[in-house]
Amino acid sequence: MNLIFLGPPGAGKGTHAKMLCEKYGIVQLAAGDILRRNIKEGTKLGALAKDVIARGELVSDDLVNDMMFEEIQGLKGAKGFILDGYPRTIGQAEALEKFLVKEKIPLAAVINFDASEAVLVDRLSGRRLCQVTGKIYHVRNMPTKKEGVCDCHEKPLVIRKDDEPATIRHRLKVYHESTKPLVEFYRKKGLLHDVPAEGDAPSVQKVLEKLFEKIR
Ligand code: ADP
Ligand code: ADP
Repeated sequence: MNLIFLGPPGAGKGTHAKMLCEKYGIVQLAAGDILRRNIKEGTKLGALAKDVIARGELVSDDLVNDMMFEEIQGLKGAKGFILDGYPRTIGQAEALEKFLVKEKIPLAAVINFDASEAVLVDRLSGRRLCQVTGKIYHVRNMPTKKEGVCDCHEKPLVIRKDDEPATIRHRLKVYHESTKPLVEFYRKKGLLHDVPAEGDAPSVQKVLEKLFEKIR
């Protein structure tokens, strides 16, 4: 089963995509994670994306489309995938639609995570990442056992550069301008499922698992 996770930064897309993929044996393709991996590995794409991401802007549609199509094509034999944080513009959504039709890959549903700006800012400000596994923590909501280090590796956690207050505000503005129109785009196609995402992680996860069972 193939899904899209749509929603503003900080809504919990990555956290819940990881949990669902673990439970159901499907694959998470997180556009932000793939871009950050390219930056770390010093690829040409990484060099083009680095400053754009640091400013909280969107990487160009062409670059992101090509990157994601390659990832999807590399999944042959997988039970399904979650596109997490892709598409993020109408241009990307239209290109993805054409690509999926051409490749005869069905899209089961688009899950729209919804949370207030205050919750999003609080979640992004407290987000911490494990640099080894990419595991996502929150200083208060999802703390590590030992402060500041990952539970798996005891390596220091990092704060994403784009999780600084001014960049968070800018990313939320970019979400409203460029990504929010996708909600109606997919609603009109009858694919959209709204998920209120303000509850704690176990309760949001319960709602998602119920929805997942209904869709598949
Ligand atoms: P978040 O989890 O906070 O929503 P992501 O990790 O998904 O953030 O994305 C981080 C950054 O990577 C974005 O702010 C943007 O610069 C870039 N990015 C991620 N996905 C896309 C996309 N689909 N199109 C363009 N840029 C993207
Ligand atoms: P996104 O991928 O949508 O940007 P993340 O999954 O990275 O969001 O979550 C943003 C922050 O909020 C992380 O620090 C994460 O630990 C925390 N978080 C995610 N889901 C919840 C939830 N349901 N309740 C509380 N905190 C959450």
